[in-house]
Amino acid sequence: MNAVQLVSRDIAPAISVQTKVVDYMTDFFVKKGFKWLLPVMLSSITDPLWPDPAAAKMKAPEIEAYGSKLKLMHSMILHKQLAIAMGLEKIFVLSPNIRLEERDRDDGRHAYEFTQLDFEIAYATMDDVMGLIEELIVGLFDYARGLEELSELGREIPKVKAPFKRFTLGEIEEEFGDEEKASKEIGEPFWITDISREFYDREDPEKPGHFRNYDLILPEGYGEVSSGGEREWQYDVILRKLKSAGLSLEAFKPYLEIAKAGKLKPSAGAGIGVERLVRYLVGAKHIAEVQPFPRIPGIPAII
Ligand code: AMP
Ligand code: MG
Repeated sequence: MNAVQLVSRDIAPAISVQTKVVDYMTDFFVKKGFKWLLPVMLSSITDPLWPDPAAAKMKAPEIEAYGSKLKLMHSMILHKQLAIAMGLEKIFVLSPNIRLEERDRDDGRHAYEFTQLDFEIAYATMDDVMGLIEELIVGLFDYARGLEELSELGREIPKVKAPFKRFTLGEIEEEFGDEEKASKEIGEPFWITDISREFYDREDPEKPGHFRNYDLILPEGYGEVSSGGEREWQYDVILRKLKSAGLSLEAFKPYLEIAKAGKLKPSAGAGIGVERLVRYLVGAKHIAEVQPFPRIPGIPAII
């Protein structure tokens, strides 16, 4: 595709749906009393995205500024924990993330620049957050079924009911093979829980080796649209997990200082991929179809 073909695409229906989805979701969180943060795009610390079975090992790009190096944000997870530490009890942010995924990650649902609706709640449990996301998705799907953009596209959104089915990752692997196969076989949104991944997701203190985290999976092979978890907040636990993941402690210096001072609080939250949600709603094959300026892994952006 060249630059002229890029601007000749009909992106209007997807952007119209996106406008309504973002409006619906931000209104949902504002009405529930969440405070709306503006995004951080550059920082001395960011999400390591490692180890995560759904992520490839990646290095956050850095820029030189004022004699020090700042990273482009992979996600705002650590900043969400710090905002909770500041006493902001319930927060959300539309967070632009840069993740330089490799060419082999181009499976239609990865972009190297995308936006998450990322939220966090002090002292919440996984059941609180899963219930909140279910309420959001049930309402959003009901709303989407009435959108004329979708009927013009011939897209039917199923009626869904909470609570969604829950499987541990172990159960998914045993029953379906993997997440993608389960997403094709199960005709409704469902949860995958207990995933061994980044240090900040909380290990179950009563069941070591198990994790109080969750992914929301969309049907028809669309796959993961949200990841979240209860969070670690205790310095010794965080330090142990960073070390066992082989991550540099230097890369998390101010975060570790705050954790050591006992300032982190228990919290839980999740991030919802906006482009992935819109891609599912409009029934697009590739995430690039809902991005006016596609960011396809391994392919330099035309614009
Ligand atoms: P994560 O916590 O890394 O799972 O990211 C949260 C959410 O952001 C995911 O559940 C996806 O919906 C979305 N997301 C993550 N990586 C990408 C990507 N490369 N392209 C588009 N959306 C993404
Ligand atoms: Mg994820």
